Amino acid sequence: MSRSIIEKADRVIFATYQRQPVLIQKGEGCRVWDSEGRTYTDFVAGIAVCNLGHAHPRIAKVLSEQARTLWHVSNLYYTQPQVELASYLVKKCFADRVFFCNSGAEANEAAIKLARRYFKEKGEKDRYRIVAMEQSFHGRTMATLSATGQEKVKSGFAPLLDGFDFVPFNDIEALRRKISGSTCAVLMEPIQGEGGIRCPEAGFLESVRRLCDETRSLLIFDEIQTGMGRTGRLFAHQHFNVEPDIMTLAKALGNGLPIGAMLARETVAGGFGPGSHASTFGGTPIVCAASLEVLKIMDEEKVPEHCAEIGAYFKKQLEELKDKYEFIEDVRGMGLLLGMKVKEEGDAIVGACRDRGFLINCIQGNVLRFVPPLIIEKEEIDSLISCLDDVLNMLTRKRDGHSRGDM
Ligand SMILES: *Cc1c(COP(=O)(O)O)cnc(C)c1O
Repeated sequence: MSRSIIEKADRVIFATYQRQPVLIQKGEGCRVWDSEGRTYTDFVAGIAVCNLGHAHPRIAKVLSEQARTLWHVSNLYYTQPQVELASYLVKKCFADRVFFCNSGAEANEAAIKLARRYFKEKGEKDRYRIVAMEQSFHGRTMATLSATGQEKVKSGFAPLLDGFDFVPFNDIEALRRKISGSTCAVLMEPIQGEGGIRCPEAGFLESVRRLCDETRSLLIFDEIQTGMGRTGRLFAHQHFNVEPDIMTLAKALGNGLPIGAMLARETVAGGFGPGSHASTFGGTPIVCAASLEVLKIMDEEKVPEHCAEIGAYFKKQLEELKDKYEFIEDVRGMGLLLGMKVKEEGDAIVGACRDRGFLINCIQGNVLRFVPPLIIEKEEIDSLISCLDDVLNMLTRKRDGHSRGDM
């Protein structure tokens, strides 16, 4: 049955994704089941989305209650779940106001538009440029792909939107040189996700903040992947002594329901008045009710704290693997946003792990990314580690065999 559905999918759905050949039908906690009845421990979590695991009973309950009450009325009216969610979010961070949308790209679009408009409103009409980082990822809409520092995301879509400059991540001097009188903002991920799980060097974010202050540029943190407890704090920048002026969220904000948010300080938020920006679905009650429950669970069950602890354990296990295999070049990341750079064959490792009942994914061709639900436990990590040990052992023997054969 799954074969025919997969074949049909390959005929009727745009071929924009290279999919794993499994038809997933059910999820619960950190596990998913495919149509053949095989189970997998999920270290992808819908790309860092299902931070509380699949089919969480408390979220399911809130969702079904809200489904019987009110789904959507538009932003022409007030609805309670939206107000409660916004209040919860601003209580948890630097921000004073929230704009809701439906995805990460939209949240970044809103941030880009706000940064530009903020300076226009102040009469500084020439400040519209945004400095972003090489290897960054901010989305697939025209503005957000123009802001993305990866050629493969932009390829074929010229002319791109004007107004984006790029500097290498972790290069404060390059940033200092790039910021000019026409810069309105610096846009960056505190830890680069899609770019290969790249962490800021000590002091980098603090220096970026200082530069922004000196030049009166806005600092925008894209926390779409790093937010919602993923790194061991609710938001990644809270590990550092730095606050942005604008922050974007999406991915895990709804634990799988589509929601994005752009948050800002009061002064900056004034850049958007009535009619300046909008989204039909943004902040719709059915999704906000679920998202509010996500935040409550994060707090009540101390999910970020668990993530910090279990993530440190996981990273240590990966580092031990690195000591054992010269096949592994690097282990990096924070909390449960972890990457392991291998010399080659990232896809082969993903496939071999899948055959052994583990979903992992590979970015940039050779960085294995581990972003499981934050509720994952030690036993599940131990079994993935022994699976990786097994797979790497096999690959190493194969490589050694080949190189001897070559000689
Ligand atoms: C996933 C991601 C986006 C894009 O989010 P979409 O919901 O796919 O539009 C933007 N920025 C970062 C850092 C991301 O990880």
